[in-house]
Amino acid sequence: MKNEYRGTRIPQSWYNLRADLSEPLPPPLGADGHPLAAKEWEPLFTPSLVEQEYTCERSVPIPEEVLERLSAWRPTPLRRAKRFEEALGTKARIYYKDESVSPAGSHKATTAVAQAYYNKIAGVKRLVTETGAGQWGSALSLACGFFGLQCLVYMVRNSYEKKPLRRILMETWGGRCLPSPTDGTEAGRQALKRDPNTPGSLGIAIAEAVERVVSDGSGESRYALGSVLNHVLLHQSLIGLEAMEQIREGGESEPDTLIGCVGGGSNFAGLTFPFLNPGRGVGRPRVLAVEPAGCPTLTRGPFVYDHGDSAGLTPLLPMHSLGRLFIPNPIHAGGLRYHGMAPLVSHVLRQGMGEAWAVPQSESFKAALLFARTEGIVPAPETGHALAGVVREALSTEGKGRVILFTLSGHGLLDLQGYADYMGGRLEDVPIKEEELLKSVQGVSTFEDALGRAAKAVQPYLPLLP
Ligand SMILES: *Cc1c(COP(=O)(O)O)cnc(C)c1O
Repeated sequence: MKNEYRGTRIPQSWYNLRADLSEPLPPPLGADGHPLAAKEWEPLFTPSLVEQEYTCERSVPIPEEVLERLSAWRPTPLRRAKRFEEALGTKARIYYKDESVSPAGSHKATTAVAQAYYNKIAGVKRLVTETGAGQWGSALSLACGFFGLQCLVYMVRNSYEKKPLRRILMETWGGRCLPSPTDGTEAGRQALKRDPNTPGSLGIAIAEAVERVVSDGSGESRYALGSVLNHVLLHQSLIGLEAMEQIREGGESEPDTLIGCVGGGSNFAGLTFPFLNPGRGVGRPRVLAVEPAGCPTLTRGPFVYDHGDSAGLTPLLPMHSLGRLFIPNPIHAGGLRYHGMAPLVSHVLRQGMGEAWAVPQSESFKAALLFARTEGIVPAPETGHALAGVVREALSTEGKGRVILFTLSGHGLLDLQGYADYMGGRLEDVPIKEEELLKSVQGVSTFEDALGRAAKAVQPYLPLLP
């Protein structure tokens, strides 16, 4: 009996949910509060990516060369998790889109290839980025290698030292990885002056990457981001578009429930947005975003205008946020430890098109371990959160024969320490106190305030650096 569906080919266009929103997405704002013009992103991103950031076209064609590169592992398989269903004793039918088959082991390789391609044809020589646990840095190193670009990754020093395998992977693909903070940037030097032994942070690493790009006089460097922004979510729409065809191959008409884990929101949006297209003329599925209780951006963070980085260098984005200075407890799902959320994901949930759940990491490892032991694939700790959502949903609807579809966003073969800690009983769930959250969102301007100021602002937004 067949449990795997391959589809016929990669869709030739990306799907853009912005074309079908009844309420338009609020604009990004400059530091002084004025709505940011597309041009103002150009010191950081190449024009074709900026255009994708702003476009409201429903369908964006995928360049031939990108399709050709992606065809090495796309379409990714859709599988039915039969043994997992049996172990849960549920009558729900559970399908997963397996993004772990990319060479980098996660969905991030898909946007990495598209971003590297557009930079290459624009004449960019070097992409600069930051990485926390190393998944994005390795995906971008892979893609830069494909297109002959240099890749420079500022990796949070703590993970650089504690997780050498992802760094080695980046170097294997030809990327250069530096432990952040470095003494090569002003932001890095200041951080080192404050504390020579600092473990680093994603905020400092972003600041270093952005500074490196903006201050590179040759104009040959650009910045790259692995989640959050509209163009990244657009690239990931392949996940849902492929799944739509494949699930029919599996004999189902439509999934009833779609589930994804959320860090910055890209794999969740990639799966769900194509199914939310009202033009399909079928009922909307139930849509669930699952986040860690240790970084509860959607469930406990207000909807505000906030910076994407902790240094406050990036434009202000309309999103759910825990405050740019929020430092989550060190949970194993490094890819979900982000204070903000994609504006489009925040918007869609605000419009009532989906809901968010927060799960403790012990629950996510429990579900991930069961999945590994029944289906074989060891899920990334991030993906474990989606699985915890799947388990809750499957058990709550037992007997109803629901069709659940989730993204297996990546494998956890380079994150086995989390499994070791879980199996050894060393995993702690530390609840976050309400006072702590209130303190961290203090000073973030409310959505209404920020928009009010935007209406009055006239100053062009230029300096991305203080
Ligand atoms: C980065 C990452 C995530 C979280 O990022 P999103 O943009 O929310 O998808 C989830 N799973 C894996 C495996 C990742 O590498």
